[in-house]
Amino acid sequence: MKNTLRFASVASSSSGNCTYIGSNNTNILVDVGISGKRTCEGLKNLGVSIEDIDAVFVTHEHHDHVDGLGVVARKYNIPIYATEGTLSNLPEKVGKIRPGLLNTLYPGEKCVINDIFVSAFPIPHDAAEPVGYSFITDNHKVTVATDIGHITKEVKENALKSDILLIESNHDEQMLKNGMYPYHLKKRILSVNGHLSNDDCALFLKDIIKEGTKYVLLGHLSKENNTPALAYYTNANAIEQMGAKIGDDCYMWVAPPTGMTKCIQL
Ligand SMILES: [Zn+2]
Ligand SMILES: [Zn+2]
Repeated sequence: MKNTLRFASVASSSSGNCTYIGSNNTNILVDVGISGKRTCEGLKNLGVSIEDIDAVFVTHEHHDHVDGLGVVARKYNIPIYATEGTLSNLPEKVGKIRPGLLNTLYPGEKCVINDIFVSAFPIPHDAAEPVGYSFITDNHKVTVATDIGHITKEVKENALKSDILLIESNHDEQMLKNGMYPYHLKKRILSVNGHLSNDDCALFLKDIIKEGTKYVLLGHLSKENNTPALAYYTNANAIEQMGAKIGDDCYMWVAPPTGMTKCIQL
């Protein structure tokens, strides 16, 4: 039987992140930065029960990625995979998790969950030991790369040749610079270990789409310093400028600031 791959964003913004990836016999989440209740409801919309989740892969310890992690891990006995730095810096709010559920990952190393290979790669972000993930089945690849201050060699290598890419398009630089955020926060977001701007995302997507990625989800949008329309058009303009046609050569969506995306099935 052909292995299908399903992908949906249950939540993606600077106030909460949770991504679903499923194959014929495996169900995985990346981050649980929303409540347990919202996670269960989101999965239910996809026809998946939280009890069927085989593993949660955590990108880093910031609250928008782990707020519901402790609740779902304890209640449903779900194994958690994260780097040592992330595991040892989980915020107090996550609460105690049984050590048997915690699995340490080493960036650059691959692990296997049933029929899905998982590759963790380092990302430049101001957390202890943050990573992005590629999920690879025998015929498909999905990469999740958010909270990245800039595009590094590792981010590029792992994102290349993905069928589906969830990439951060966090802010419009002008909106951020002219906005209400205090200076230290603006500086943090704009730094090489902060968040990826619409313009930097667009530049990166040109390379990615040239190499064959068909489905792009723009995610982790800032509610204060971006709009879904601005993120979409900045990226779409760059892609169309290089001669690719959206809706033909590739497909692009923006993760809504609240709510989930539809499920892409390959
Ligand atoms: Zn984040
Ligand atoms: Zn973060």
